[in-house]
Formats: sequence, structure tokens, C-alpha cells
Amino acid sequence: MIQPIHLLGSASLRNPTIPIEQDSPSLRQLIVDMLETMYGARGIGLAAPQIGRSERLFVVDVSSMQEDIEANGRIMPDQPMIFINPIMENEYGDEDDFEEGCLSIPDIQEIVVRMDKIKLTYLDADFTRRTENFSGILARVIQHEYDHVEGILFLDHLTAFKRRLLKRRLNDISEGFTEAEYPVYTDELGVIYPALEEDEDEGPVRL
Ligand code: ZN
Repeated sequence: MIQPIHLLGSASLRNPTIPIEQDSPSLRQLIVDMLETMYGARGIGLAAPQIGRSERLFVVDVSSMQEDIEANGRIMPDQPMIFINPIMENEYGDEDDFEEGCLSIPDIQEIVVRMDKIKLTYLDADFTRRTENFSGILARVIQHEYDHVEGILFLDHLTAFKRRLLKRRLNDISEGFTEAEYPVYTDELGVIYPALEEDEDEGPVRL
């Protein structure tokens, strides 16, 4: 089921996550919910804290970027990818600029500098332990999601000056003033559903 995405300011985004001890039906359901929520919001990655959960888990689907990934000579792994209990072993290579956005911070995109290669250990959807190197866009998306399970947001990578420039817009978002096209959540207001488009049929919002 699609879950509301917690907005900037929600405590869940800053709380530490807890490693998952074993596979279970509730973990399977959580993964399904996270994928549905990510696809419903047209995201390419989503971490458990973004739907108010404390599991150390994120999901990624970069299918929409297949051309870019393969154009750079990289092999596209099967999508979606499930990362359970990820541990960042290394971030290396060259510094890379990339404009990032975040489903928890709608309508704000900023350049974030990160290393362009990573080495990550995690459990995949079959609970198989893997240590893999990622580069390019996939590394970037994984770094962003990994930050989420560490309670870090991409804003934290910006300069204090840049954050000051964004302050008003960020305050608006944390107070629930956004035009996100998916259900969102703030600790104060609870769930906020997207406004119906004027030309859509009247009726209950089905989400
Ligand atoms: Zn994000």
C-alpha cells in the first residue's frame, strides 16, 4: 500500500535506523509498500525513514536511467534493488557534481558533491550478503538513500550560505506547504493528500 512520505522536519528522517535481524512476512510487506510508494511518487529511491519506519532498509529503481547508465559502459543490474542493513565500506574515485532532489523535500534540487565510486556491503532481497562496488548514477542514488538510513539529508551537504538562501522554502515544506503529487506527512499535521487536478472527476481520493 502506498504510504505517505515524511516531509523535511519529520522526526523520522533524523532518527537512527535499526538493523533488520531476520526475514519475515512483515519485512516483505514493508518492501512491497516501499516500492509502491516510490513508484507512486515517481521516485528512483526510497528509504524506510521516509515512510516513518526505523528499519535499516532502502529500495532503488533506476530503470528510467538505463540509457545513461549503459551509455557510460556500465551494466544495468536487475531492478528494483533492495538494500537491507547496508554498510558503506568506502567512497572513493573523483568528486562529482550532480543535481539531487528528494521525495521528502519536494521541488528543491541542488548540486551535491560526492565521490563517484562506492563500495557497499548489504543483504539483498534474498537475504544474501553482498559486497559490491557501484559507480556513476547508481552510486549517487545509493549514497543519497544511504544517507537517509543514517538520518542525513542532501541539504546537510550544502553550504550554510546555500541553506540560508533556501530557508523560507524549507520552512514552508516542513510546515506542509508543498505541491507534491503524492501523499505526504508532517509530525504536526499528519497525512496531507495531494490536491485533485481541476479537470479530474470529483470523488474520493483513492490512495
Ligand atoms: Zn531523499
